Amino acid sequence: MGPGPAQQQWGDARQAAAKLDAEGVRAIALTWVDNAGIARTKTVPTARLAPAVQRGVGMSPVFDVFTADDAITASAHLGGPDGDLRLFPDLDRLTVLAAQPGWAWAPVDRYDQLGAPHPGCQRQFARRMVDRAADAGLTLRMGFETEWVVARAPGPGGQPGGAAGTGRLDGSAGTGEPLEYPCVGPAYGMSRVVELSDYLRDVAEALALQGIDVLQLHPEYAPGQFEVSTAAADPLRAADDLVLVRETVRAVSLRHGLRASFAPTVAAGQVGNGCHLHLSLSRGERSLHRAPDEKWGLDPDAVGFLAGVLETLPALLAVGCPSPASYLRLAPSAWAGAYQCWGVENREAALRLVTGAPGDPDGGHAEIKPFDAAANPYLAVGAVLAAGLHGMSAGTALPPPVAGDPGALGVRERARRGIVRLPSSLTESTDLLARSTVLAEAMGEVLHGAVIAVRRAEEAHFEGVEPEEIAAATRWRY
Ligand code: GLU
Ligand code: MG
Repeated sequence: MGPGPAQQQWGDARQAAAKLDAEGVRAIALTWVDNAGIARTKTVPTARLAPAVQRGVGMSPVFDVFTADDAITASAHLGGPDGDLRLFPDLDRLTVLAAQPGWAWAPVDRYDQLGAPHPGCQRQFARRMVDRAADAGLTLRMGFETEWVVARAPGPGGQPGGAAGTGRLDGSAGTGEPLEYPCVGPAYGMSRVVELSDYLRDVAEALALQGIDVLQLHPEYAPGQFEVSTAAADPLRAADDLVLVRETVRAVSLRHGLRASFAPTVAAGQVGNGCHLHLSLSRGERSLHRAPDEKWGLDPDAVGFLAGVLETLPALLAVGCPSPASYLRLAPSAWAGAYQCWGVENREAALRLVTGAPGDPDGGHAEIKPFDAAANPYLAVGAVLAAGLHGMSAGTALPPPVAGDPGALGVRERARRGIVRLPSSLTESTDLLARSTVLAEAMGEVLHGAVIAVRRAEEAHFEGVEPEEIAAATRWRY
């Protein structure tokens, strides 16, 4: 008989640590993403990997009710100084960090001290929902797009504007601080790629060295904005990938004297950073987006799933657009998908059906546009799965697709076609999340309650604050 799972893990971790050590890796960053969307970490020396895998690393459950500005709130179940959790690194995702020499990274699952899953663990929530889909015979593939803005990072303390020590949340001198972009080329302009040739090559190289399958890397619309999209993967892997991509872009940026902002709104009134979620459904080998005899090529189960996502989207916004800054980005006619509608290859629809080239077996999928990078990707993945699976089992129907920009239609025409605006504030989406029985059941009381508590605290923090100041306060948090 071979060793039991615990011994096996210990053996694997010892081997992995020896290999890392030989490669010069001295420390491992163990990350999880909190409900506010911030990747938090404990790091361990490489020699402590095996004990961490076997016994976990301690961290307080209070982080479940941290807000993006590091204030602490409370929910019915969480808050206060008591208790401890164990963080267990996932060895399968252990990755040497290309842009942080001597470092490796692994995401964690969180358990209580007796070994029971922590009910607030977002990564286990995502995994539970993937399992739920599998029980329904479904395989999902997902991939996130990462958009970010680069700015120069001059000044003492490395803070843009050189205003470290001012006591402001973002370390900036004030809301009017001009951002200094390292490139001046136009949107999607090749000149931006030429200007930042070394930087972008280093981003691409670091991601490749870390096993991230990049589909595209390109300049985006807003000043200093770029985007990288990654290949579709198992949903949990897609969420892990997003964390790794973001921290890698951040690290490469700093090595080039730049700072990366993944905030929903980097500058008020400007196009923001989205974090669109692409997803496709299949049963075994059969794509549910390539049903030859069905309308839009969609198998009835795919219709139900997508309709469930669309129907739940207003409440899902409290997960995918979690900051007051998210609603500054989510404006009509900004490619962010501000209306609750779907469309075939329509970049203004919140849910875009991507048909791809005819006959392309990998072409069919859908894109959820409103989500941004302040979202916890594990929560996003899990909540979308919950909403879609509910829609599928309820046989929910899709309304007629919308062509063109719904924001360009008159109020009357939108009303006639039943196209409604998605929530335009965090308060509105959080109220809907609080009332959503589908999401409450899927998340469980502890997680659902913690997310709502964090949203309420961020709403209160920014109550009555001007857009420019919200943007400035959140710009360097994500
Ligand atoms: N930056 C846009 C957003 O806020 C998206 C642009 C695009 O379609 O890629 O979502
Ligand atoms: Mg984009």
